[in-house]
Amino acid sequence: MKRTTGTDRSITAKWRPATRAVRGGTWRSEHGETSEALFLTSGYTYDSAGEVAARFAGEAEGMTYSRLQNPTVAMLEERIALMEGAEACRAQATGMAAMTTALLCQLSAGDHVVAARAAFGSCRWLVDSLLPRFGIETTTIDARDNAKWEAAIRPNTKVFFFETPANPTMDIVDLKFVCDLARSRGITTVVDNAFCTAALQRPMEFGADVVAYSATKLMDGQGRVLAGAVCGSAQFINDVLMPFQRNTGPNLSPFNAWVVLKGLETLDLRVKQQSANALKVGQFLEGRVPKILHPGLASHPQHNLAMQQMDACGSIFAFEVKDRAQAHALLDALQLIDISNNIGDSRSLMTHPASTTHYSVSAEARAEMGVTEGMLRINIGLEDPQDLIEDLDQALKAAGL
Ligand SMILES: *Cc1c(COP(=O)(O)O)cnc(C)c1O
Repeated sequence: MKRTTGTDRSITAKWRPATRAVRGGTWRSEHGETSEALFLTSGYTYDSAGEVAARFAGEAEGMTYSRLQNPTVAMLEERIALMEGAEACRAQATGMAAMTTALLCQLSAGDHVVAARAAFGSCRWLVDSLLPRFGIETTTIDARDNAKWEAAIRPNTKVFFFETPANPTMDIVDLKFVCDLARSRGITTVVDNAFCTAALQRPMEFGADVVAYSATKLMDGQGRVLAGAVCGSAQFINDVLMPFQRNTGPNLSPFNAWVVLKGLETLDLRVKQQSANALKVGQFLEGRVPKILHPGLASHPQHNLAMQQMDACGSIFAFEVKDRAQAHALLDALQLIDISNNIGDSRSLMTHPASTTHYSVSAEARAEMGVTEGMLRINIGLEDPQDLIEDLDQALKAAGL
């Protein structure tokens, strides 16, 4: 493998974000291929027993087994790290593998976690159901309220865990305040940045320690593969995360890494266009529906904070109709937008969180985090926004709105 400028931090550090997303991390084999090579290999061979011994001892560079390193996966890891402004990154099989690894690799029985109550359903399950089984205490709070973070800290608080904007209520967490507070108290922040990606929001610029991803969403962006990633300092990734990862194996397949590498080439373009489209569709829906939760609209209670932290509003927002029956009627009347619980796709997709993504969260917790029976979440894609508006217009009429 020939290292290109894409792997030289003294060069890539000067590149602007769009360049990093296209070129970052690229290595080339002796063939000099333009596009990143796909190394579907589980293992590696060696010229001598001495060489493999040196690699295992960490005295020689080189791959030893794809649970530890794989060239295609390594290209993706370097690219994501660069985009994030992180020293290091490790790819994971899925977004949930990334969240589970980012938390379990650093937590032990007796530790305490403070988490945002508004979160992706499975992230809430980790906090409410998994961590307590291993003696890790958890507290969920209204993460929009800075005072709640401070009040929840205990002597054994080890991690703050949140997403911003949150899925699906679009709650915004004040990154600067919460990361500063965590730093001052020796707490590690784990930020789930799936709704933005580094193309829109870079939590590490606000002091976040660990950024974890579902790369299934905007990074792939074309609805093809599940993938995840965890970014952090070299010390965190090598000394804290890697011992967990190399022995538990939540690794991303090289094929899926390759697909995400292709997705990243167009991330910047897609995210900008999808944000512009989402703003247009949001402006249309405002006034037509009883309530809209859209970080790009002035009606969002945290609009100013969102726009300070994010370069654009992103592709996802939520709105409310009367009840579950009206929400389902609206979904059933759609002709262009798909009923689908995925997000970040280049196609527009809509779902009813209470009966899908947040079905596994108790009704009580749903009510507390603001996932109402009439809430719908929409991901705006790359279609002509006028076609999306016309589809929503006819579906709203069919649902009696
Ligand atoms: C989808 C999602 C996840 C989980 O990602 P998978 O790739 O589906 O495992 C985690 N957090 C957020 C905010 C998500 O939207």
